[in-house]
Parts: sequence; C-alpha cells; structure tokens
Amino acid sequence: MLTKDSKTAPATQPLEATPVIEIRDLHKSYGELEVLKGVSLSAPRGHVLSLIGSSGSGKSTLLRCANLLEDSQSGEILFEGEPITWKGEGLHRRPADRKQVLRIRTNLSMVFQQFNLWAHMTILENVMEAPVTVMGRDKKEVEASARAYLDKVGIGDKCDVYPAQMSGGQQQRAAIARALCMEPKALLFDEPTSALDPELEQEVVKVIKALAEEGRTMMIVTHDMRMAADISDHVVFLHKGLIEEEGHPTQLFNQPKSERLQQFLSATV
Ligand code: ADP
Ligand code: MG
Repeated sequence: MLTKDSKTAPATQPLEATPVIEIRDLHKSYGELEVLKGVSLSAPRGHVLSLIGSSGSGKSTLLRCANLLEDSQSGEILFEGEPITWKGEGLHRRPADRKQVLRIRTNLSMVFQQFNLWAHMTILENVMEAPVTVMGRDKKEVEASARAYLDKVGIGDKCDVYPAQMSGGQQQRAAIARALCMEPKALLFDEPTSALDPELEQEVVKVIKALAEEGRTMMIVTHDMRMAADISDHVVFLHKGLIEEEGHPTQLFNQPKSERLQQFLSATV
C-alpha cells in the first residue's frame, strides 16, 4: 500500500522494498567504554531479525539506539529510508527533534524483559494508555482494538485485572498487546522470555511465533536459540560490539564459521 509515508522513501526505491529499520556503521560509547564499534544491519519489511550474543555484547544498546532511547556517536539509523539519527559527527551531531523521537518510538514499539506494566492500572488501561494519551487517538476506538489485541494474545478475560494478579507469562503477553496497540511498523523485543519460568516462557514464544507468521517486522534479542532458529529470516551474532557472524538461521546454527560463535552456541545448548 502506498500511503503518504511513501514521500519519505527515496524516489528510486518503492516503500515496500525499503527496510523498516536500517542501521549503518553505528558507534556508541558510554564514556570511555565503546559498546558498539560500527554495526550495520537492516530489518526488511515482514522479516524477523534475531540478535544473539553473550551478555554485555551490546544487544540491548543496539535496540535502544534503534528506537532512540539512546543517542549514539556516529553512524546512521534510517526508518523507512529516512535518516532519523543524531546527524553529523562529534560536536556537530544534533538530536532528532521531539516530534520525530515520538513518531519513531510509536512506530518501533519495544517489549522489555521486565514487562514494564503500570502497577496502578488495569491491563486494559495499560494497553490503552499510550495510544490515548501520547498519540491522542479516539478512546472508544482504542478500547476496541486493545480488547482485540488482548484476545489475540490469549488474555481477553484479563482486561479488568491488575498486573500483580497475573503470572509473568500473562504480564508479558499484556506487554505485547500494549506494543501492538500502537499499530507500529515494527516490534522490538529485548529478551522477552528471560524473566519467565520455562513453562511460562512457551506461552510467550507461541505468541511471538504467531506474530512472525503474520509477517510482522520484528527485531528480537533473545537467548532462546530454538525460537531464533524457528522464526528468524536472519540472525546476527554480536560479539563485543561488532557483528562477528550473520546469516540465515539454518546456516548460522548448523554450520557456524566463527570459532566464537561455535563456542557461544555450545555454551547455550
Ligand atoms: P547486552 O544486552 O548484549 O547484554 P548491553 O547492550 O546491555 O549488552 O551492554 C553492553 C555494554 O554496555 C556492557 O558492558 C554494559 O555494562 C554497558 N552499558 C550498558 N548500558 C550502560 C549505561 N547506561 N551506562 C554505562 N554502561 C552501560
Ligand atoms: Mg541486554
């Protein structure tokens, strides 16, 4: 579908062919510590991109940079072909304006490891909060879609319940419904199942798989190699802030070339 968004895509490339997110040579430091040392990747429309790697390799930082929760020192981030990052280098680098940041955060909706639901709001209120108060959408319309998304993730009966009254798996599914209710162009997941007991983990994996089958664009940081192998179109292995190896999951998991990836995989299974 060509909408007004197509204006922002380069004239030479139709919107459908433009990656939803593209990252070019991104460098990010915290003080002296260089966490991302020149990372490039892209998430084409309808693709699932998984990021794997040891703790501290920069996976969360990369996701957080992608939806402008963090700034970066150099490199470019493009949303649907449009550069959205702090432009320029060093002192000349300037931030994207607030309106743009908001647009990017709503279009690249993030699901966190710790769910981050509001404890004082019911599940329905949690899901409706951002579309109504941040995006200013019609309350009735948002409520209908919030209920539909809660149904979709299998907790349509929990609308009036508070987060503390639900299991971790149910809370994470509510967080996914909340992300979906923003009607984003892509979903970003940061270790969505890491805080869950194994039996609850599977109910969340099932929801993520269903979203992948629907053709949603997703970037997923995960330690769950089975899920990554199952649903990804492309897997990126980060090591100390650099892409050490990447490829199709079949190739990457069955015939890893890099010794570091071989070690990582043998330690995680
Ligand atoms: P991963 O998600 O792969 O475990 P992170 O992106 O969270 O890795 O962290 C990468 C590195 O950056 C780690 O060494 C971590 O300690 C450091 N780091 C992350 N966030 C901050 C921060 N806000 N301030 C300083 N250092 C940070
Ligand atoms: Mg992390």
